[in-house]
Amino acid sequence: MHTVKSTCPYCGVGCGVKVESASHSKSKASNLVLGDQTHPANYGKLCSKGSALGETLLDDTQIRRLTHPLIDGDVVDWRDATQAIADRISSSIEEYGRESVAFYLSGQLLTEDYYVANKLMKGFIGTANVDTNSRLCMASAVVGYKRAFGADAVPCSYEDIDAAQLIVLVGSNAAWTHPVLYQRMVAAKQSNPELKIVLIDPRKTASCDIADLHLAIKPSSDGFLFQGLLKYLIDTYSTDETYIQNHTDGFDAVCQSLDGVSPQSTADMTSVEIADLMRFFEWFAETKNTISFYSQGINQSATGADKCNSIINCHLATGKIGHQGAGPFSITGQPNAMGGREVGGLANQLAAHMDFDPNDRDRVQRFWKSPHIAEQAGLKAVDLFDAVLNGKIKVIWIMATNPAVSLPNSNKVREALALCPTVIVSDITQTDTSAYADIILPAQGWSEKDGTVTNSERRISRQRQFRNAPKEAKPDWWALSEVANILGFENEFGYQNAHQIFAEHAALSGFENNGSRAFDISGLSDITEQDYQDLKPIQWPINAANSEGCKRMFEDGVFFTDSGRAQFVVSEARLAECLKKPGTLILNSGRLRDQWHTMTRTGYAPSLAAHDDLPVLEINPSDAKAHQVQDKQMIEVSNEFGRFIAVAKLTDDVAPGNLFCAIHWNEQFASQSVVSNVFGPTVDPLSGQPESKAIDVSIRQYECKYWLRVASANPIERGDFDYWAQTTTKRGYVSLIGINQCFDWKQWGADQLQLGDDFPFTHYSDHSRGAETLLALNERSIGALIYVHKQVELLPSFSWLSSAYDLNDTGSVATLLRSEDGEQDQPICACFKVSKKAIERKLTEGINNIEELGLALGCGSKCGSCKPELNRILKARPVTLNADHHSVDF
Ligand code: SF4
Repeated sequence: MHTVKSTCPYCGVGCGVKVESASHSKSKASNLVLGDQTHPANYGKLCSKGSALGETLLDDTQIRRLTHPLIDGDVVDWRDATQAIADRISSSIEEYGRESVAFYLSGQLLTEDYYVANKLMKGFIGTANVDTNSRLCMASAVVGYKRAFGADAVPCSYEDIDAAQLIVLVGSNAAWTHPVLYQRMVAAKQSNPELKIVLIDPRKTASCDIADLHLAIKPSSDGFLFQGLLKYLIDTYSTDETYIQNHTDGFDAVCQSLDGVSPQSTADMTSVEIADLMRFFEWFAETKNTISFYSQGINQSATGADKCNSIINCHLATGKIGHQGAGPFSITGQPNAMGGREVGGLANQLAAHMDFDPNDRDRVQRFWKSPHIAEQAGLKAVDLFDAVLNGKIKVIWIMATNPAVSLPNSNKVREALALCPTVIVSDITQTDTSAYADIILPAQGWSEKDGTVTNSERRISRQRQFRNAPKEAKPDWWALSEVANILGFENEFGYQNAHQIFAEHAALSGFENNGSRAFDISGLSDITEQDYQDLKPIQWPINAANSEGCKRMFEDGVFFTDSGRAQFVVSEARLAECLKKPGTLILNSGRLRDQWHTMTRTGYAPSLAAHDDLPVLEINPSDAKAHQVQDKQMIEVSNEFGRFIAVAKLTDDVAPGNLFCAIHWNEQFASQSVVSNVFGPTVDPLSGQPESKAIDVSIRQYECKYWLRVASANPIERGDFDYWAQTTTKRGYVSLIGINQCFDWKQWGADQLQLGDDFPFTHYSDHSRGAETLLALNERSIGALIYVHKQVELLPSFSWLSSAYDLNDTGSVATLLRSEDGEQDQPICACFKVSKKAIERKLTEGINNIEELGLALGCGSKCGSCKPELNRILKARPVTLNADHHSVDF
């Protein structure tokens, strides 16, 4: 048994993990993933996704795992693959120029991969057409910080939560998107009951669980809210004049821009009750230790950069920055979005926080000894794929990301990929994007690769290898270097390991820096290979002045602008265009508790797949009634850009007129389920970040002649079905199938499931319910279960069916045939697999709180991700009287 410390590969919290592995074993079961109690990002805690990392270890037996390079679908060796890539890049440059080549990278890459990709493209191929999926995550936050501070530098640390007296969570459902950070807020509130938490979100999310105040603002109206707050701070003399005088510029211009703004105008624009608005304003004004956390709800907007600066303006005006427990804190979605920003992974950055002015270009070119440094910023993600579509880009290399699913207007992206002469995809599994690839390279995944990542608080941590990669899977930096070598740059890309790349990256950060650039890790430029292996988590800058790293930036009130002073930015507040059309349904998109991005890892973990087996469309009951939509019916959502299908969930969590759907599903897990299809081409003009939080859509019921739910040991191919979705369970798969043509489903069952004579079929028709059942089982085992109904909402639930199949109880034939207990249930706890009904049963036995539930069922006692849902169930139960006839109080 040996232990390796690494970092969780999911969100920007960047939790440390320790993996206890049986020596030389490759199996999932023998790699136990636990929280690293010494890691300052999480101190041993993990959320449901981190806790299930052991389930997601993909090996070469996994159905979609990529294990060999492929050219046009044929297995080739690496030499042929890299030669083909180099040839296609060379001939494209020769025929169409440098701008005809592009890379599209990812916040899932390690910093070392990112560094080599950026260096090859911007310094040697000679164009800045290299962008990243981080454009969809935090590009607006980068613009906000750079405009205000002169540097893309997050001022705060997670430990500031412990000293905060007010936490503002805006555009962030941290309980699900940054769960361990959220649990730290919960703990801070428990130890300091005076700590107030304000949630600003159009939806009632799980993060409401700890909110003292929820401002359910009109979608996209955040800019008005923070303009209103700043005006209130000015009008009530709540600003910090000394801080403004000594450390900032531009305050007067911002004051003038707020003429006419009042609490009432703010209430009108945001649709928030004036009393709630004033409570928030007063709390912000009177609380020195205030942190504003913001995330995609702010960034993914046509005015995202201005929203970021509106928030920062409020902090600068009150001096709530540069001291303990305060600051505007952008939390990144991805594990290494920050690392990508450090190396210049965005098209409008050069490297090491340098831009494209002549001095920076000259400096980087001399450091890299590069022949062709990019002359100007390249194309940002949306423009880059437009250039693919219109034929300007002829070769695109996509690494560790799935733009056919994640980019808005994804039908157009797919069209572009289909037309592009050369699409190269590096990934660990087949994806919707790899379906368009001419050349596929098998990448190494988490557990197999080795390097560093940087989390939301500027903390660099090691991601370490603890398993061998299957077959021919290789690190991305290695593949890039091989291509660079063939292109003739062997002297500059002769890397033998990740350590050499990291040391070079560190040296560039300090090269002619002299305090001019925030990102400076020159203190690590002489790092030895052993020290790199042993590197402990550390926050940048790391240099002569900060040899142990830096918890908090701007404590001295000096910024990276020309004047050394922070800049107020006059910011525009504007509603999304679709909100100007009265009576339309507005779709919001976001993330779920137990899924990550396009499910390339989490989709294969049974405990994570169980929480939501299908894309769910949240709809207010009043809208459902108006559109004749029933709970659990399948709904088609559409507009001029595209369509997708999801299952309806009637809930007051979304306000009338609003809809919500999570972004994760794609063609690998469900047909017609790509939510980004319906989001259009609108981007923030400064950051290029797409608007993904508000679009007008129509809805209608999606009907099929027959619906089938099938539990089986083997996956069911989607074939010609009109609808298909599949979820991984412990013993196999549960599929939902919709079909419109006449269909001999009994014959299909026999053919498709190929169970042979070992599993005789038992058929049951329940004419009173219009339901039919086919069981394939023998006295030892259940082979498959098939349920058929014309109404999808009357099929057994996924939860019941997966439990019944996994239980494999062949003695319960009568129950299985009738599926009498097949009514809907809801998995709540991923760690202990506890459902809502099990919890409700315990509550009827007199259990009163989460601690007792934890003792009885386990739920809530491990990762804590389910605690907001447990609290909701506790609050929703009927109030009972205890023996002393006092009401039970929650
Ligand atoms: Fe991973 Fe969860 Fe930590 Fe995010 S909060 S890094 S997903 S364990």
